[in-house]
Order: sequence, then C-alpha cells, then structure tokens
Amino acid sequence: MFKSIRSKIIVIYFLLVFIAMAIVGVFMINQFENLHINTATNTLNRIVNNIVKPQISNIDFNNYDDLRYEIQKIPVLPGDYEILMIDTNNYKIVASTKSDSRLIGRDALNNLNKEVISNSSENGYMKDEHTVKNIGYIYKNEKNQTIIIYGKAYLANIYEVLNESEKIFLQAIIMALIVTVILGFFISKSITNPIKDVTSKASQMAKGDFEQKVDIKSDDEIGQLGEMFNYLTSRLKNTLDEISSEKSKLNAIINQMGDGLIAVDNEGYIIHVNPTFIEMLRINQIDTTKPVYDDIVGKYNKNLTLKCIKNKNISQGSEIIKLENKDILRANFVYLKNEKEEVKGLILVLQDITEHEKLDNMRKEFVANVSHELKTPITTIKSYTETLLDGAMEDNEICSSFLSVIDKESDRMARLVSDLLELSRMDHKKNNFNASRFDIDNLIKDIVNKLDISFKEKKHILKIKLCDKNIMINGDKDRIEQVIQNILTNAIKYTPDSGIININTKEYNEQVVISIKDNGIGIPKKDVSRIFERFYRVDKARSRDMGGTGLGLSIAKHIIEQHGGDISVQSEVGKGTEFKIKLPMDKSVDI
Ligand code: ADP
Repeated sequence: MFKSIRSKIIVIYFLLVFIAMAIVGVFMINQFENLHINTATNTLNRIVNNIVKPQISNIDFNNYDDLRYEIQKIPVLPGDYEILMIDTNNYKIVASTKSDSRLIGRDALNNLNKEVISNSSENGYMKDEHTVKNIGYIYKNEKNQTIIIYGKAYLANIYEVLNESEKIFLQAIIMALIVTVILGFFISKSITNPIKDVTSKASQMAKGDFEQKVDIKSDDEIGQLGEMFNYLTSRLKNTLDEISSEKSKLNAIINQMGDGLIAVDNEGYIIHVNPTFIEMLRINQIDTTKPVYDDIVGKYNKNLTLKCIKNKNISQGSEIIKLENKDILRANFVYLKNEKEEVKGLILVLQDITEHEKLDNMRKEFVANVSHELKTPITTIKSYTETLLDGAMEDNEICSSFLSVIDKESDRMARLVSDLLELSRMDHKKNNFNASRFDIDNLIKDIVNKLDISFKEKKHILKIKLCDKNIMINGDKDRIEQVIQNILTNAIKYTPDSGIININTKEYNEQVVISIKDNGIGIPKKDVSRIFERFYRVDKARSRDMGGTGLGLSIAKHIIEQHGGDISVQSEVGKGTEFKIKLPMDKSVDI
C-alpha cells in the first residue's frame, strides 16, 4: 500500500506534523496546568497570610462563634477558594468562609485531607487532591492559642478550561493533518510525476523505442535526472545506430559473399547462417531452436562435427566435402572466441572448389597428354636410331625406310609442338591476327584446290554449293583457312573411300554459315560434346596413326570465337558428321 514514493511522502509529512503538534500540544497543556495550579497556590497563600491571619490574630479560639463571625467577615473570596478553621484539640471544623458550609462541627479528619491536617505547619503544608489544592497552616494567636487554618482551592474550572483547550488543540491537529495530507499529495505529485515520466519512457526504451525524451521543468535534482535521461537516450540511440549499421554492413557482406558461412555456439545452436551456405548444401529449412549443426555437416563429413573437433583438440582446420552432385567444397573451420579468449562456438566457411579441382585435373591431364604424345614419337625415333646404329644402317633399304619413319615422327613432334605453341599463344591472347577483308567463297575454292590430291586419293565425291555472292569477311585469312582446312582434312580422314563430302556456304542473319558435311564414320553421342577439348580424340590410336594431334578442333574453336563467330558439330555414328562455322560478315562496301 505504501510502496509508492507519493504515499511514503504523504505518510512522512503526516507523521512529522502529527509528532510536532502532539509535542507542542502536550507541552503547552502541561505548562498551562502548572501555571494555573501555581496561581491558585499563590492566591491561597496570599488569602491566608494577608487576610485570614490578621483577621483572627486577637480572637479567642475557644470562642467558636467569635471565630466564625470574624471569618465570615472576610471579604467575599472568589467562589473557588474556601478557608476552614480546625480546632487543634479535637480536629473539629469550627468555622468556614462559606456561610453555608455543611462541614461545620464535623470531624476534619474524616472530611478533609488527613495528611494536610496532620502535617500542617506555620508556613503551610500543601497537598493536591484530584481537582482540589489543599493547604494547612498552624496558626498561633496573640494569646498563644493554636488553630489550623485549612485552605482549599477548587481547580475544577481550571481543568475544564484545560480539557476544552485539549479538544481545541486536537481539532487543530486534525485540521493541520488534513491540510498536510492535501499539501503532501500535491508536493509529492510534483516530485513523483517527473520520476513516473522517466520510468514510463525508460520502459518504452526497454521495448526498443529510443525516440523518448522527457520534459525538463526544473533545474533541481529531478531536472538533472531528466537531463541525464535525455543524454543517455541520445547516446544509446547513437551507439545502437552505429552498432546496427555495422551489423547491417557485416550482414550484407556475409549474405553477399560467395562462400557459405555458418556460426554456431558450443551446443550446436545456429547463431548465423548465410544464404550461400544454405544453397551450397541444398538445405530446405534451418531450425534455429535446436542444436542442428552436427546433423547438417555430419552427414557430409563426420570430422566437421563439434564433437569430433573438440576431441581432436584443434582450434582450426580444413576438411573436404563431396556433394551428391559431384561438387567439391572445402570447409575451413575456426573457433569463435570472445574478448576473454573463451571459446563460444565455431565458424565454418564453405568454399566451392569444384571449378578449381576441375582445372587442376585438366592441368594434370594436359601435362600427362603432352608427355604421352611426345613420348610415343621420341620412343619410336630412339628405337629406330638405336637399331640403325646397331648395324641396320648397312642395309640401304632398311636404312631409308627407318629414316622415313624417323622423319614422319619428327614431323609429328614438330606439329605437336607448333600446335601447343599456338594454343599457348591463344591462351595468353598473344594472337597477332593479320586482319584483312576477303571473300569466303574464294577462300574455300582455294582450299579445295589444295586438297584436291587428298580427295582423289580416297576417291571422295565433293559437292560444293556456294552463294557466289561475294560474301566478305574481315579477319585473318590464314587462320580461317587453317580452320576450314583442318575440318576438311578430318572429313577426308574419317570418311571411308568413295565417301561424299558436302561444302555449303549461305548467308544467314548477317553471318556466313559454312557447312562441311561428310558421310563418314561419325562421332559417338557421348563424345560429341567433348570433341573441342584439347587432346580429345574418339579413337586415340586411329587418330595418331593418321598423324592427328587431337588439338586441331580446339585451336579451330579458339580462332573462330576470336573472330566473333561460333563452331558446332552434329554427328551420328556410321552416318556422318557435319561441322557448321558461323562468322560475322563484313558489309562495308569496297571503294
Ligand atoms: P585430330 O588431330 O586427332 O584430328 P582434331 O582436334 O582435329 O584432332 O579432332 C579431334 C577428334 O575428333 C578426332 O580425333 C576424331 O576422333 C574426331 N573427328 C573430327 N572430325 C571428325 C569427322 N569428320 N568424323 C569423325 N570424327 C571426327
């Protein structure tokens, strides 16, 4: 009930005022009481000493009538005072200032305060009854007779006044307390309202709304509290803005990065995971409410589970993940530590190294292919040379046949090396094309003329259908010739005797399409897509026998692509092969 500051302030005010007024009230009432009692005592003393004693100084105390007479003569006393005369022999009341005193003749010891009577002295002996002040004097007259003068002061009126005063005082206290409570209510409101304001705005801040500001209405401690609150809010807002901008930058980097990233705590609960990670491992849904890390990575590589990493006692490392679709990922992991270097979890980064591995394999394959291609002619040359040196040289026939083999193999090596050099030049974009404008149909006619002997050797029927429209091409004539010649040579090589070879050119979409079609052995479906790869040959032995290097088509593809064109192949085993070369036409007009 008294939990709020407001009620506490009101209670404190109430108690302070109550205690202060109670102390003042009790003190004043006591002082009043003492004052009145002292006044009554003094008055009684004055009456006895100044009036009564002189009045009866020469009276015979044995003559009660005289005594009563003299006492009655005393000027009228205030109603609250009474003087009695008591005979010291029998303690009978013999006279009284009050004419109707019913005490006359009675035994004073029964009716008055016995202690006062027995202790009466010349100067008086005082004793209070409840509301009466009693004083007893022993008085000797001139005849040496003694009598007790007994004075009574009735204090009932005084006590009545005091009671009334108490009541008035009580009312004043009640009124003062009511005013205190009302004032306390308003004063406490002026203190608690700003505090309430700060509290409610602080709770808004706790809910994430940092736009809170309190109104400063004073420059006292409460005003300073408000100022500090406003300062704190703005600082907090700035700091949070900075943190959130840093966080969003980091999130953007993490979410946009090409590598997959996951951060987990020590139990395996996911702290952060980026879209690339989800994409790489093809995860449908990630449950962040359960420790799922080990389940996710464990099925690809057990060495990446938290348990395994902890057991191995390594803080960082790398593992390979092979996916079902043959993709290869490198998983690099490192412990996540806080400022105190305590391990708080693990960060795992996935890198797609499929392409890298592929290139690496291609490189290895290429080196192996080159070595193999060179090894065969070298072995042949070496063995033939050794045989010649061992004596075969003496036989002219054998000698010339061996030398022609050595010559053929040397040519093959030279071709291989020159093809490799050309490929290497193309890879490094060092091709110095001798660009010129030429007619493609004329070029094809020239090539056909050059290969005439080869066609005739294999009795091939050549069907040429050209546009005869002066289709002009801008490019390196020798290179384009190299490409067409290579394809035609292949057509001759891989088409049995008496086969048909078609050469067509046509204009299509600003391009010239050169089609070279044979009805030869064809290429199996599985090999068609790989025919342009370096050293790829459908039948290695056969190609080699025919003097092929397996590099011709890959060089052709390079040359055509660098001229902005395209080369494609369609083939069916046993039916034949068609190569199509598309090259951009040069439409500029000759001057
Ligand atoms: P090669 O020097 O071995 O001829 P290419 O790169 O010119 O090398 O050709 C690659 C392979 O493509 C050949 O080994 C051959 O198996 C196949 N090929 C090329 N042209 C034809 C064709 N017209 N018919 C059948 N196979 C062909």
